[in-house]
Amino acid sequence: MPGKNLSRDEARERAEIIEVDGYRVQLDLTSATDPAASTFRSTTAITFRSTAPGASTFVDLLAPAVRSVTLNGRELDPAKVFDGARVQLDELAAENELTVVADCAYSRTGEGLHRFVDPVDGETYLYTHYEPADARRVFANFEQPDLKARYVFTVTAPAAWDVYNNAEHTAVEDRGDARVWQFGETQPISTYLTAVVAGPYHVVRDHYRRELTDGSVLEIPLAATCRRSLAQYFDADEILTVTKQGLDFFHEEFDFPYPFGKYDQCFVPEYNIGAMENPGCVTFREEFVFRSKVTEAAYEGRANVILHEMAHMWFGDLVTMKWWDDLWLKESFADFMGSFSQIEATKYQAAWITFANRRKAWAYRQDQFPTTHPITADIRDLEDAKLNFDGITYAKGASVLKQLVAYVGRDAFFEGARRYFKKHAFGNTVLADLLDALEETSGRDLTSWAAAWLQTSGVNALTPEVTTDTEGRITELAVVQDGRVLRPHRIAVGLYDRDTDGALVRTDRIELDVAGERTVVTAAAGRPRPALVLVNDDDLTYCKIRFDAVSLTTLRDGLGDLTDPLSRALVWSAVWNLTRDGLIPARDYIDLVLRFAGEESDIGVLQSLHLQAKGARDLYAAPEWRAEGARLLAEGALRELRAAAPGSDHQLAWARFLTETAHSADQLQLVRGLLEGTARMDGLEIDQELRWALWLALASAGEARGEELAAELELDNTASGKRHETECLAALPTPGAKAAAWSAVVDSDELPNALVEAQISGFNQAGRRDLTAGYVEPYFELLEDIWAQRTIEIAMRIVGGFFPRYQTTQATLDATDAWLAAHESAAPALRRLVLECRDDLARALRAQKADG
Ligand SMILES: [Zn+2]
Repeated sequence: MPGKNLSRDEARERAEIIEVDGYRVQLDLTSATDPAASTFRSTTAITFRSTAPGASTFVDLLAPAVRSVTLNGRELDPAKVFDGARVQLDELAAENELTVVADCAYSRTGEGLHRFVDPVDGETYLYTHYEPADARRVFANFEQPDLKARYVFTVTAPAAWDVYNNAEHTAVEDRGDARVWQFGETQPISTYLTAVVAGPYHVVRDHYRRELTDGSVLEIPLAATCRRSLAQYFDADEILTVTKQGLDFFHEEFDFPYPFGKYDQCFVPEYNIGAMENPGCVTFREEFVFRSKVTEAAYEGRANVILHEMAHMWFGDLVTMKWWDDLWLKESFADFMGSFSQIEATKYQAAWITFANRRKAWAYRQDQFPTTHPITADIRDLEDAKLNFDGITYAKGASVLKQLVAYVGRDAFFEGARRYFKKHAFGNTVLADLLDALEETSGRDLTSWAAAWLQTSGVNALTPEVTTDTEGRITELAVVQDGRVLRPHRIAVGLYDRDTDGALVRTDRIELDVAGERTVVTAAAGRPRPALVLVNDDDLTYCKIRFDAVSLTTLRDGLGDLTDPLSRALVWSAVWNLTRDGLIPARDYIDLVLRFAGEESDIGVLQSLHLQAKGARDLYAAPEWRAEGARLLAEGALRELRAAAPGSDHQLAWARFLTETAHSADQLQLVRGLLEGTARMDGLEIDQELRWALWLALASAGEARGEELAAELELDNTASGKRHETECLAALPTPGAKAAAWSAVVDSDELPNALVEAQISGFNQAGRRDLTAGYVEPYFELLEDIWAQRTIEIAMRIVGGFFPRYQTTQATLDATDAWLAAHESAAPALRRLVLECRDDLARALRAQKADG
């Protein structure tokens, strides 16, 4: 559609001639409960000024129909001025008043105004999600982050509903079966940050109060909401505790009172991402409301997201990037602050372990794609922006901020942030504005630091080189850096040896700056050669950790003997990178997991080991060894499950791992026994989510019948139940099941986002590759149509999800290359996705060779 993909140049030109004073948006959502109604009425009045009277511009709007357009009292013909994506505005005056009346569509894809009907009670729930540019699916606007404005929303909704917005409501008026909610005026914010949440949501209210340094008192009403049918599982107390701890922390550190009045946190269904920082009205995926037992890692993860979004209230909402090139500014900052504040303000003390082991894995993967990019990216248009919510923008950016804090010091960093908030409050910025503030407070020139870390791409590997004398003393320890761009790193080198109990403990820690190709660690000379040299100990910098031969032998013999959980997490992450790089065979990685994962105390690390071991089995093991690897993992899972403490998180994690590995008749019989109650494990509660995991194991193995899955859905006739049943049906190892899943996603756009995901996930169960081998050709044939016809969110899922990742053959790689060669001019964002899938595939082939 012409004009849908707004470019940076267009945005810049528009901002040069437009200043927006305010929006009055009226939404009539009374049709929402009628399944036959596909649209709602949206009326937007915008007052704006133009510095170039007589000039032309446009507002963005994605709507099935426009009823009327009135510019400065002139009625414009919608058929002439609206092209489906934009409303053309000619002959601007100095002061302008524009009113657009449109029928906008309820969304099934999580983009715009999403509508969801709860199967439990038939209630309808709505919420908006816009980033980067979907506010235009709900009301006409200038959809770019630097045209901030104040908004006044009026929402008409069914009488029994509650409605939430960025601002507090000021009046509610009953009008028959409907109720009109009048909201107050917002602060100046960007379009993508506005929000409406409407439905019969369950709500828990609380209050935050703080005396500020000037003696005044800040009052923040708090609310946490979820669907009514989830209320029984809603642990709002825990959510609100973390919320208050975060508000304390950010007020201490940022010294800028929370500017958006109240703070609502809405847990919403079929949400595409983790959460969104709409000021005063944060939305979260409702899977954070745990309806079955989850491990502590899940609570830690949720607290991290709560704090990440809260950090955005200042960094992102109060001060916003000018254009999406600087998306990283807010995301890296929020990602870093999420972990930082978690350690400082909450009970979750493993945040840096999780960051080192999980979050950074995302960055390392992304940064080795041919499509990687500098942290400060070149974002030409909205499609570029959409794809940049990636491992570089979030995890690498946050790692680099962690390194920056080590470089300028904590005090200078926070003082810089405080000045930045005060100077740019309610405005828009670029990277240089932040660097200016930090240079001012740290007294350091950050130009070369920024050039090395922010304006280049790729990850460095750091390898220790150790030479010893005949006495076994170090004559030289050097750190060798490789990578396309060599960078300055502040690192710690840890030396580890066995103590009298045989534990591997740190005997020395040497902090130093590393630059260039080779840096000698002078302080190490003369010390006894240690059993393990760990570069980037304490995880100060962003790099791939490599080992010398002696250290690698030590780890093969006794990785689990490392007593420090962060060191262990770093080592696990390093051996995973070695496996991905084909430097150690996948079977060796699986062997390490089998021997040492059972002793891993950090539950988050254990769960990522499970994930990675599955990846090693499915993608990196040589095909002739794959079945053996699968057998070993399943036996290991069962062994550790039996050994785990009854009722522990570890027991649950191993039980889940068993469901992902079980395949022998005995194992499947045990799985069925657990489901039917004829087998039991002391302390292991077979709750609803675990039941579905057990069913998925049976379904993938062809040991579940459709009627049985339907009966389980009867027991759990909920939104999650529907997703799980869909996934199980798609996982059945029959040609018919695969064809049905494929067709449900590809041949129709009726499925909501959550079920698209469930179908793809079931289709992809890796056990029976033969059943999906026939879909390589159809996949490449449909790519361009999918990209053209679906919303970008759904198109991304189909392109990434149906890529034949488990057809790890040269033929698949050739087919991918052939498509790329024949589609040079396909949408760059589509090509980027295919290139990344291709790179994963080529990596798998290399790793399989290394394992062979
Ligand atoms: Zn964020």
